[in-house]
Amino acid sequence: MVPMVDLKTEFNVIKKEVLDMLTEILESSHYILGPKVSELEKKISDYHNISAAIGVASGTDALHLSLDGLGISEGDEVITTPFTFFATAEAIIYTGATPVFVDVEPDTLNIDASLIEEKITAKTKAVLPVHIFGHPADMTMVQKIAKKHNLKVIEDCAQAFGAAINGKRVGSFGDAGCFSFYPSKNLGAYGDGGMIILNDPAVADTIRKLRNHGSKRAYRHETVGFNSRLDEIQAGILLVKFKRIDEYNTGRRQKAALYNKLLPGTVKCPKEKKGFYHVYHQYTIMTPERDEIQNRLKDNGISSVVYYPIPLHLQEALKFMDHKEGDFPVAEKAAKEVLSLPMHPWLEESTIKETAEIING
Ligand SMILES: *Cc1c(COP(=O)(O)O)cnc(C)c1O
Repeated sequence: MVPMVDLKTEFNVIKKEVLDMLTEILESSHYILGPKVSELEKKISDYHNISAAIGVASGTDALHLSLDGLGISEGDEVITTPFTFFATAEAIIYTGATPVFVDVEPDTLNIDASLIEEKITAKTKAVLPVHIFGHPADMTMVQKIAKKHNLKVIEDCAQAFGAAINGKRVGSFGDAGCFSFYPSKNLGAYGDGGMIILNDPAVADTIRKLRNHGSKRAYRHETVGFNSRLDEIQAGILLVKFKRIDEYNTGRRQKAALYNKLLPGTVKCPKEKKGFYHVYHQYTIMTPERDEIQNRLKDNGISSVVYYPIPLHLQEALKFMDHKEGDFPVAEKAAKEVLSLPMHPWLEESTIKETAEIING
């Protein structure tokens, strides 16, 4: 079966460096919040031209701790997209706030910023755009609205490490940028991990405490926090991969360009808006014949996945929000038509050709 991501080939390329790194860390006996985490934080903050980066246990925790650190709490409302991974809404709910959904743009499937203002109430405290599949959300518009209404902006960059708008990387627009290093993400560890980037030193200080039991100095607890740290081993592995992230993203963009060229006009290929730098965490097509195409690919040994079959407002767990079918028609149509194809920097040209031919029927 042709896989969606080829972590095995990736490992074989970086094997020696990874194993040397693991040996160094294991021999150091320093496994939590050590020098590798600090080095990665420094490299990632520099890469984004941002003053602080804080390693945490997952992308979900990056969102949760950012919201918490920015003061989002019980009774607040946070505007976000219904077309994302469930964790985006979960993190909002952890703080006691309520997610308020806004439908998405038909082309990028990112939050439709032109619909945000009508959802703002006295309770709205923040906007949480997601750079879905690696294409940046319209941050110019989001920032403008947030500024006008005095809202915080938390960017969910879990699928978009290195994506940018006019050269400015995602995560550096809002009050906090949140990354996930889940293994299949475009920058992935060999386990769970996440990172928050931000400029405000006071908020950074709060979040650093939150990730470590509310404590800055051993056994002095200023607040009730969490156990949410990026561990040394994952940070070491990420240092090996981070060096190559621009190369990986370039590779993904080349594969995407070939798909765009070879896929038939009957399916809608992902769009890249002018001035936007898409990193194709997923290469996602849209077609009303989605299920037939997926079956055909499967019969020919090619993986494909539906991200996401159910928009958040129709999820069982969020029933209490009283949404119904028809509330967010663009997200609902996307859920019926999207199909993500194999995408990674080592994808063979012949595989892309074969996939396109099978989709062609
Ligand atoms: C993966 C993902 C998350 C959660 O990240 P974890 O590291 O798995 O906790 C959040 N939001 C989006 C959009 C994601 O794709």
